[in-house]
Amino acid sequence: MKKKDSAIKPAVCPRCGKTYTERPSVSRNDGTTLLCPDCGIREALESIGVCAAEQKQIIELIHRSQA
Ligand SMILES: [Zn+2]
Repeated sequence: MKKKDSAIKPAVCPRCGKTYTERPSVSRNDGTTLLCPDCGIREALESIGVCAAEQKQIIELIHRSQA
């Protein structure tokens, strides 16, 4: 049985170039650009001063917990 999802079309993230089908995140930089969820997390972490290496680790952890 497939859950009825609000129709989300695949989109390409302008930040990392990845095609994603998850609910997009709105960029904090301009409030309109739609990013993939990963980049949304990256921006959020960046805004609180988390370095790129740590951002990667956190995103990997999130993916692992979703698998
Ligand atoms: Zn992205």
